[in-house]
Amino acid sequence: MGLRGASPANSDSARPSKKPVRETSRPGPTSRSLASPPPVIHPSRGDAAAGERLLRRRPPPQMGDERVKAEALQILGLFQALPRLVVFDLDYTLWPFYCECRSKRESPSLYRHAKGIMFALREKGIDVAIASRSPTPDIAKVFIDKLEIKSMFVAQEIFSSWTHKTEHFQKIQRKTGIPYKSMLFFDDEDRNIESISKMGVTSVLVENGVNLDMFKLGLSNFATNVAASSTSKDE
Ligand SMILES: [Mg+2]
Repeated sequence: MGLRGASPANSDSARPSKKPVRETSRPGPTSRSLASPPPVIHPSRGDAAAGERLLRRRPPPQMGDERVKAEALQILGLFQALPRLVVFDLDYTLWPFYCECRSKRESPSLYRHAKGIMFALREKGIDVAIASRSPTPDIAKVFIDKLEIKSMFVAQEIFSSWTHKTEHFQKIQRKTGIPYKSMLFFDDEDRNIESISKMGVTSVLVENGVNLDMFKLGLSNFATNVAASSTSKDE
């Protein structure tokens, strides 16, 4: 079913992890793929110093999984009200590609904070699950195996669907028995965020995959939602 069109140009695994346009899933003027391109630096117009600064700028230091986990645990310690279950999308949330554009033979990698965050959640006793609309669950599952993260998930709902993950969450709720209001969800597609928020799940739109900043934001939004719902009950 043509939910997600993959152009052959996107199948080159050596490409950097720039998010390709997926026409059927991101229509309309609000699509981020239509956002203005970054400003171009023209050294000939007196911006040479800025250009040099950009060239000199070093990438941020790589944090190992253990260090990310320690920071994620610190962040978890900041909040009284914590979710019982955190649900992640796969493509462009846990890993920087659409897995239907990849082959099972490849060795995938996650966004660099993803594993540490999941380790921290597990250590804190918080369940972790997947909700993905990937049309190639076979590839997704092979990658999850290769990344050695399969044992982290209490539920893996990976199937193509015309709903914006409401079906995925209904299945996760039935499997875990955890109410929607005790769940936190990360995804890179605003339509999924919209529909799952309506179910009562605290949902966070990620731009460049899940990272410690997004994690903190999600937990903060979750705590705010819990406080708001207990206030409305008191009234
Ligand atoms: Mg995605």
